[in-house]
Amino acid sequence: MATTTLSAEKDPMGAAISDYFNHHRADRLRVFSSQFEEDEIPVKELFRSIQSMPILERTALQMATGRILDVGAGSGCHALALQEMGKEVCAIDISPLSVEVMQQRGVNDPRLINLFDETFTETFNTILMLMNGSGIIGRLNNMPGFFQRMKRILRPGGCILMDLAGDYYGEIDFQMQYKDVKGDTFDWLYIDFQTLSLYASECGFKAELVKEGKHYDYLVKLSIA
Ligand code: SAH
Repeated sequence: MATTTLSAEKDPMGAAISDYFNHHRADRLRVFSSQFEEDEIPVKELFRSIQSMPILERTALQMATGRILDVGAGSGCHALALQEMGKEVCAIDISPLSVEVMQQRGVNDPRLINLFDETFTETFNTILMLMNGSGIIGRLNNMPGFFQRMKRILRPGGCILMDLAGDYYGEIDFQMQYKDVKGDTFDWLYIDFQTLSLYASECGFKAELVKEGKHYDYLVKLSIA
């Protein structure tokens, strides 16, 4: 598992977020994968307001309590919504351009850091991983390492809230491009509830299905068993 952050020259999503924030419009954020046809991420959706968030995300925001860690916070849409609700949140991302935008948008505690960087030793009551949160785990064989890391930064009684959306589950390789900024290829894991529960229990966690959507999407709560 990589533990570093991106350089601005290889941060296409951050470039798109920065462009949209500064010019209220953006080019196409292109997504390539050896397993799929070329796709794109609508940049505007990375700036969604609480009203336009899917129900699974809104449920997670409601459930989040105490000191919250927003993992892979992007433009800061969830961190800002949590702040409006009066909650305390630290927002981390490996994208330097995204972290800069979060700062400019008024996210109170944005940090340029990788979730798996062991020098980050602060602890949290709720760890939020939203918009296909398991993606950051990358591959199935990173699961034990992920849960070990969570044990270090979860406070007693705390939990991880993760939403998954998609009609495909598996290990995907992705690469993104925005204008002439091309990122490195990275692994992204889409995991179904059954498989996640199995890994969780092997690693001393329990997985609870909080809510299910209509299209194989779900919100899961992971806590130390
Ligand atoms: N949560 C945001 C953005 C999701 S995109 C939203 O819902 O709109 C996933 C984000 O995770 C990207 O901004 C990416 O830079 C970040 N990311 C990927 N791997 C990470 C890691 N290991 N640690 C922290 N952030 C990571």
